Amino acid sequence: MAGNWKMYKTPSETSAFFNEFKPLVADSSGSEIVFCPPYVSIPAAVAATEGTKIEIGGENLYWEKEGAYTGEIAGGMLVDAGCKWVIIGHSERRQYFGETEETVLKRTLAALEHGLKPIVCVGEHLEDREAGRTEDVLKTQFDGGIAGLSPEQFAKIVIAYEPVWAIGTGKTATPEIADDAHKVLRAMVAGKFGREAADAVRILYGGSVKPGNVKELMAKENIDGSLVGGASLKPDSFAGIVNFNK
Ligand code: PEP
Repeated sequence: MAGNWKMYKTPSETSAFFNEFKPLVADSSGSEIVFCPPYVSIPAAVAATEGTKIEIGGENLYWEKEGAYTGEIAGGMLVDAGCKWVIIGHSERRQYFGETEETVLKRTLAALEHGLKPIVCVGEHLEDREAGRTEDVLKTQFDGGIAGLSPEQFAKIVIAYEPVWAIGTGKTATPEIADDAHKVLRAMVAGKFGREAADAVRILYGGSVKPGNVKELMAKENIDGSLVGGASLKPDSFAGIVNFNK
């Protein structure tokens, strides 16, 4: 279960969040727990979660190791700050910051080079879904992005299926819609990397996941976890998601 904090929470808000959150998941088992806070809040998140099973990630990274790239962050910097994960190709990055399939692949390769575990996001817009183009969009994103990895590299990534129309809108894809899309993605993985890779890859669903709908989503065969925006900002709601099977 991964929380994407986007551009929310200062360092002090981060420390306060974990003071409340940690006791709520102290005896939870089963789910891995990851938070991706804004860069300046990473040290506070790492310090607050030391000695727990909670892991921290970045929300993005640049593919160069260092250099004159004002405003960017390198994989090595995330690692040095204590990150284990990084989100790549989130729809907000694609929509507002010009992320393309090519840059998604470059960032994914850079993350892997630094030993970070990439959570690579894909997903269609509402007009794509309404026009019956969901599969085509996922195929374009898959072929232009993560299909460029070697089988060894692919084995280290997590995919997040996030239909753009369900992100921050309160509209969750039904478990059936989400499961169908995950199945389609798994078939693409099988075509490129083989059946074993398709069975092994973890595909998270993201889009208005809450404590009230996580259980039915997680009951689906092809859904392995969730990437959560809004509901990861409140300790009790994200704990409710982590503890969905209690
Ligand atoms: C996200 O930002 O990845 C996301 C899924 O947001 P939300 O849970 O708020 O829809």
